[in-house]
Amino acid sequence: MANKRDYYEVLGVSKTASDEEIKSNYRKLAKKYHPDLNKEPGAEEKFKEVQEAYDVLSDPNKRAKYDQFGFAAFDSNGGASGFNGFDGFQGGFQDVDLGDIFGSFFGGGSRRQSSQRTGPIKGNDSFISIKISFMDAVNGKKIELPITFDETCPNCNGTGAQTPNDVVTCSNCKGTGYVRQRTQTIFGSMETQKPCPTCGGSGKTIKNKCVACNGKGYRKTKTKIDVNIPAGINDGQQLRVAGKGERGINGGPNGDLYIEINITKDTFFKREGKDIHIELPIDMISASLGAIITVPTVYGDVEMTIPEGTQNGQILKLKSKGMKDLRSPIYGDQYVHIKIETPKNLNAEQKELLKKFQEIELGKKNKNDSFFDKIKKSFKK
Ligand SMILES: [Zn+2]
Ligand SMILES: [Zn+2]
Repeated sequence: MANKRDYYEVLGVSKTASDEEIKSNYRKLAKKYHPDLNKEPGAEEKFKEVQEAYDVLSDPNKRAKYDQFGFAAFDSNGGASGFNGFDGFQGGFQDVDLGDIFGSFFGGGSRRQSSQRTGPIKGNDSFISIKISFMDAVNGKKIELPITFDETCPNCNGTGAQTPNDVVTCSNCKGTGYVRQRTQTIFGSMETQKPCPTCGGSGKTIKNKCVACNGKGYRKTKTKIDVNIPAGINDGQQLRVAGKGERGINGGPNGDLYIEINITKDTFFKREGKDIHIELPIDMISASLGAIITVPTVYGDVEMTIPEGTQNGQILKLKSKGMKDLRSPIYGDQYVHIKIETPKNLNAEQKELLKKFQEIELGKKNKNDSFFDKIKKSFKK
């Protein structure tokens, strides 16, 4: 997968190609490389490549994402380019990757073909959501998630037959997978096709059922999967676990499992994209004279310089103390919103000092008065 070809290149169209051009080239190429028609080595890979490219470029949403983010916009069973810098997916977690992290994707099952003969079809994607804390999103987290899914029966490889010889051509439809049906309509007699009721459209029936799964081809399996939630994940984003979705049809592979991550809000740290914002109360004196104070960040307390003359509402930046970027080692920043607190319940001595301060302050003001103000004042004397 290292040298994944550009989807436009795969379909032989330009970046500005119309939907029609894309469709037409796809049809040509799909026909050319279809495994039933082309037995040359490598044809099947080409066919899959063409399918994948079309899957993305034929969908305006996916196409836009691809144009913007390239392959990183999608998953590709964990190994695709675009995820190379993503250390979270190495080690024992290869089968988990970022799903359609840029938005909603729930069209998973809609590509199911509806008519006539049905070959192996990938199962629908399934979906669960889990809750994690704000700090787990900051640091990332490895969790073990119990799931139940329909695993392909290892005894019959999903065929439901005891031996490969027990899979025979359906006698009802002669292996075509569909039957013709005549119906009367106001326009006259019409012939329609519908999936063969005997074989369910597969064109095959089974003589002796697999004893392990009783002919079903799958078995319900409870398992635990390791899920590596990457640092910096945002609320509502999804992780994809390949092959743990709903079971396929006619021996098709399982769909994928998508895990939506819900993050509980923190009362102190507010997130905005990669940045974190906090409000920090500062006493009036420190704000006036300047100070070095301790500020909490999600990575622990740090020292921050409050410059002399800091104003209420002023925002100070702590570089790289925000959330980690999902796909790079870059961190957002923390913005500290200064809230200056006026002292209350002053004692007599404090009040005296502040009055003194006020007098000096007024004196300074008078010194700064304009020439004309001074003249006016001198006339009054
Ligand atoms: Zn049949
Ligand atoms: Zn079986």
